[in-house]
Amino acid sequence: MSEIMNRQSGLVISAHSADFVWRAGGAIALHVEQHYNMHIVCLSYGERGESAKLWRKGSMTENTVKEIRQQEAQKAAEILGASIEFFDLGDYPLPRDKEVLFRLADVCRRIQPHFILTHSMHDPYNYDHPLAFNLAMEARIIAQAEGYRPGEKVVEAPPVYCFEPHQPEQCNWKPDVLLDISDIWEKKYQAIQCMQGQEHLWEYYTRVALQRGVQAKRNIGITSNKTISYAEGFQSVYPRVTENLA
Ligand SMILES: [Zn+2]
Repeated sequence: MSEIMNRQSGLVISAHSADFVWRAGGAIALHVEQHYNMHIVCLSYGERGESAKLWRKGSMTENTVKEIRQQEAQKAAEILGASIEFFDLGDYPLPRDKEVLFRLADVCRRIQPHFILTHSMHDPYNYDHPLAFNLAMEARIIAQAEGYRPGEKVVEAPPVYCFEPHQPEQCNWKPDVLLDISDIWEKKYQAIQCMQGQEHLWEYYTRVALQRGVQAKRNIGITSNKTISYAEGFQSVYPRVTENLA
C-alpha cells in the first residue's frame, strides 16, 4: 500500500458549501499539517439558503449560484489542503432518503475516517444543519454494519465531533474540546476570504476564533508559557476512551 493509503484520515460532512470553512477550517488545515488525509463532503451548495448576497446581484439563476459556490468551496478546500466532493442534493430542504444515506456510507467506507466532523444536533434557525448531523450519524452506523455490502472493510468507531453552530446557545451546543489553531489561522482566514457571497461572516468568525482562543488559554492555565490566539470549539457525541485522565 502507498504511503498515502496508510495515512490517518478525517471526514468532514458539511450541509452547505461554506459551513466547513467557518466551523472546521482550522481543524482541517491543522490535521493536513499533521499528515492526515482530510476529505470534505458538501451535501449541497447552499444555493437557496446561504447565498443571499449572490441573489441580490439580480439576474442570477440557480445554476450560476451553484457554480460560484462550488468554485469558492473548491478554492477554500485547496487552501486548507483537503479533498472535496459535492453531492449537489439541493438545500432548503436538504433531502433525506436511503440513496443519500448509502452514498454517504460508501464515502465513510472509502475514507475509513479516524474522526468525523459535522453539524450540531439542534439548530432552530436552519433545518438542514441537524439533518446533516443525522445523515452523518446514520451513514457512519450503516458503514459499521457487517451486513452492509458484506466483504467490504467496515468502519470502526471514529469519534464524531459537532462543530460550532452560528448561535451556539440556541442550538444547545457546548464545546468540550478546544482545538488550538493559532499556527494555521492565516490559512483558515485565506479560506474564509474565498466565501465572497458571505463577506458579512468573515469578521464574525474571526471574533469566534479569538474568543475560543482566550477560553483555550484559560483551560490550560493562564500561567502556562504556551500562547493560544485562535481556537475552534467542538462538542463530542461519544465518550472518548483514554489510557489515563491527566
Ligand atoms: Zn449551512
